[in-house]
Amino acid sequence: MSLSATVPHEASTQEILSSTQTSCCIVGGGPGGMMLALLLARRGVPVTLLEMHKDFDREFRGDTIHPSTMEILDQIGLAEKLHEIPHTKITGPTLQFANGPFRPFNLARLKTRFPYILLAPQSCFLEFIASEAAKYPQFKLVMHAHAQKMVEENGVVCGVRYLAPDGLHEVRAALTVAADGRFSQLRRLAGIEPVKTAPPMDVLWFRLPKLPDEPEVTGGAFGGIGRGRIFIVLERTGYWQAGLVFPKGQYQELRAKGVEAVRQSLAETEPRFAKHAESLTDWQQLTLLSVESSLCPVWHKPGLLLIGDAAHVMSPVGGVGINYAIQDAVVAANVLTKPLLAGRVSETDLADVQRQREKPTRTIQSMQSFMQRNLLANALRAQSAINIPWQLKLFVRIPFVRDFPARMIAFGPKRVRIAEP
Ligand SMILES: Cc1cc2nc3c(=O)[nH]c(=O)nc-3n(C[C@H](O)[C@H](O)[C@H](O)COP(=O)(O)OP(=O)(O)OC[C@H]3O[C@@H](n4cnc5c(N)ncnc54)[C@H](O)[C@@H]3O)c2cc1C
Repeated sequence: MSLSATVPHEASTQEILSSTQTSCCIVGGGPGGMMLALLLARRGVPVTLLEMHKDFDREFRGDTIHPSTMEILDQIGLAEKLHEIPHTKITGPTLQFANGPFRPFNLARLKTRFPYILLAPQSCFLEFIASEAAKYPQFKLVMHAHAQKMVEENGVVCGVRYLAPDGLHEVRAALTVAADGRFSQLRRLAGIEPVKTAPPMDVLWFRLPKLPDEPEVTGGAFGGIGRGRIFIVLERTGYWQAGLVFPKGQYQELRAKGVEAVRQSLAETEPRFAKHAESLTDWQQLTLLSVESSLCPVWHKPGLLLIGDAAHVMSPVGGVGINYAIQDAVVAANVLTKPLLAGRVSETDLADVQRQREKPTRTIQSMQSFMQRNLLANALRAQSAINIPWQLKLFVRIPFVRDFPARMIAFGPKRVRIAEP
């Protein structure tokens, strides 16, 4: 056996407490990794999933489940159970411009059983998928397992070494999947460099309380635009989830002005929420999402596949990151189940996953970039409240094209489905 440079000398001499064998080792228990584990396990493929955290608790890591994901879960009889998780629904935001309200898209018009975005805590969603996967004996979940090194033999990745609270362990597999998110360690170890673009904004997320006499919210979400800021407010069970979008590079300035400036900005842009904003008293209540967008030129090397944010970080426009990670997982399961059951995964199989997923990813990233450059950047540059751009007003009046943005947000350029065995 020859260990490559990805297992440095000291690691190879460090005691390995256990070494197990599986067909597919997935690193990362986010939406992409978890869904892939479920789909492979239900087809009889032995899977080990390593997640570095000890639980799934995350605040503001994206709670949006789009129609595409609900249709996928419906195919395997899980859509109804998903709806048992406490949730709210969004059909499309109502944005407040200087000259009135405007709905850029409306999912309620789409032809699907699920014409809405379901908002449910990501931790509940991940626990739900994990509990369904656990019904299959082929599924093994190891929490608190931090994958640190890849094991390579003769240029082929054949597993990882992970640090658990008791020490170092090894999992060997015919295929290792890097579903370890935007800062993917496996991607770095594999020497794959994402091509990054910097969308012109960042987002601060925070909670606002529900108060008596709440404003009525058409479509489950609304926003205010103007004075160099965009506010988005989503209706959640028991609270409002608010996002303040501001031009990239202004975080330090905003931070220096303190939480009062955020309160004031919210009150100016969306006066109906001035009272709610009084609950913001400490900067710790705000979570920064540093917006980025990236795409790896190559998503695989022998024995290794990248999916989800590890392969491509999506801009938050349209909130499609989770659903794209899940669509990657579905395509990976469709393509790789047979090779995994046969114990041989070729580079051609891995390239096929990238081929099927790269184009839709590029398409949506181009659309996000267009929106950012032509609508959001203008709104963020404006020193006063702005009017609804005439192009948008015209667009939503054309029946044939007006639902195009809703379809793209709901499904992407192509509906992804679980292939029949
Ligand atoms: C603040 C914020 C808000 C967001 N809001 C939205 C939203 O509203 N809608 C939306 O669609 N998307 C949103 N996103 C993006 C969305 O979270 C991601 O696109 C999506 O979660 C990607 O899924 P994934 O499975 O590829 O990776 P992730 O969800 O990032 O999961 C990766 C997992 O890998 C684990 N991990 C990492 N390294 C290792 C390792 N070495 N060993 C073991 N485990 C490891 C991590 O703990 C994590 O659980 C948001 C992102 C952020 C940061």
